[in-house]
Amino acid sequence: MINKNKRYVIANWKMKLGHQQSIDLAKELKKKYKGDEEVELVVCPSASALSAVGEIFKSSPIKLGAQDIFYHDFGAYTGQISPAVAREVGCEYVIVGHSEARKLGETDEDVNRKIVTALKNNLTPIVCVGETFREYEEKKTELVIVAQVTKALEDIKLNDGQKIIIAYEPVWVIGSGQAVDHNIFQHIVQIIAHTAVEIGAALANKFEVIYGGSVDEENVSEFIMGNISTGVIVGNNSLEADKLIKILNNIR
Ligand code: PEP
Repeated sequence: MINKNKRYVIANWKMKLGHQQSIDLAKELKKKYKGDEEVELVVCPSASALSAVGEIFKSSPIKLGAQDIFYHDFGAYTGQISPAVAREVGCEYVIVGHSEARKLGETDEDVNRKIVTALKNNLTPIVCVGETFREYEEKKTELVIVAQVTKALEDIKLNDGQKIIIAYEPVWVIGSGQAVDHNIFQHIVQIIAHTAVEIGAALANKFEVIYGGSVDEENVSEFIMGNISTGVIVGNNSLEADKLIKILNNIR
């Protein structure tokens, strides 16, 4: 795993804001967030707001990310999001394999193809993995994580300077207000790191692991402490500029 001082805060706005609300929040963030050399703030608005929010962030330290892409650049794919267009409007990152997308039918194979296409378009993939509550109760967490990471990263090749961010997001914790214990997360980080290295030496030192699921200003430091990970993905608490900025301040 890359062991750098850089911290990632990925703000996943999901489909929770209207178009004007996205613009207003982007402008407020741009005004209030002064940037930090050691923290990368990546905001992922809904697809319809990418272009407008991208314009706002152009002269700011805030990076743009898409919440999803398709695995072809162009073609007869009604309703899909072109990775090439995501890049064109300013995206540098893309979330793939989010549990909410998997629930709607995204498969491990789709996730793998999306990673390939993201990298081809110079988008850094943020690959979400995580077990459901049932799988957690049945003590299948490790099996699920190993399988998801293995399938996602199959045959993935990275060019110099490229990397993959793997976000461990226990499905049952997302939006619950109760994050997972950081000791459990630390164990999962080791499993993910081991799995990624097993897949191929080509990936060693080219991936990072972050945590997602009910992160707030109080608990954020637990997931970074002792360098156990390099960042967090934040849903609900990224929808207000002041809350997000407190998280950004507390991640250092
Ligand atoms: C997410 O869905 O990616 C997420 C982290 O959500 P929340 O912070 O609301 O749990």
